[in-house]
Amino acid sequence: MKDRVDLKTTPSKITPANDVWVLHLPRFGEEGTHFHTYGLLTPYFKGLTEGRLMATRCTNPRCPISKGNGEMWLPPRADCPDCHQPMVWQEVKDPKGYIYAFTYVERGGTGLEIECPYYQIDVKMEGVGTIVKSYLLDRKPIKIGDKVRARFRTGAAATNTCLDLCFELA
Ligand SMILES: [Zn+2]
Repeated sequence: MKDRVDLKTTPSKITPANDVWVLHLPRFGEEGTHFHTYGLLTPYFKGLTEGRLMATRCTNPRCPISKGNGEMWLPPRADCPDCHQPMVWQEVKDPKGYIYAFTYVERGGTGLEIECPYYQIDVKMEGVGTIVKSYLLDRKPIKIGDKVRARFRTGAAATNTCLDLCFELA
């Protein structure tokens, strides 16, 4: 077994439409291509393909929770769940954190595009208020608290999906 996880995905195509991306996901072959837009979350997916992790945060001073100085959210939300106002984009610089929880996946369900076995991980990242769910590239034994750093599938390797973000042991 290889010591790094690979994907078994057919890359998706993107059609830009004004400021948003429309995804063509060939999940069931060309005939079964699923189309949907990333809409206001396009900066997140575009950022991944460029090696940048883009989060959103609430800066509304009248927000009952953020009071104008919200934490970063990942995955991002277009609108704040607390005050329903648009959030602002901010890049997570030098994205890293630690394993908060994990699941060792030996057999995946239909449609899983990650080669098993792999670790599905929840990551607590520095400066980010939410827990990020992703997958770990490494296949060696891990434990809660292990430090990880973000990796990206960019350029020709990009899938244009959430799979373009993953983590490796730091
Ligand atoms: Zn808010």
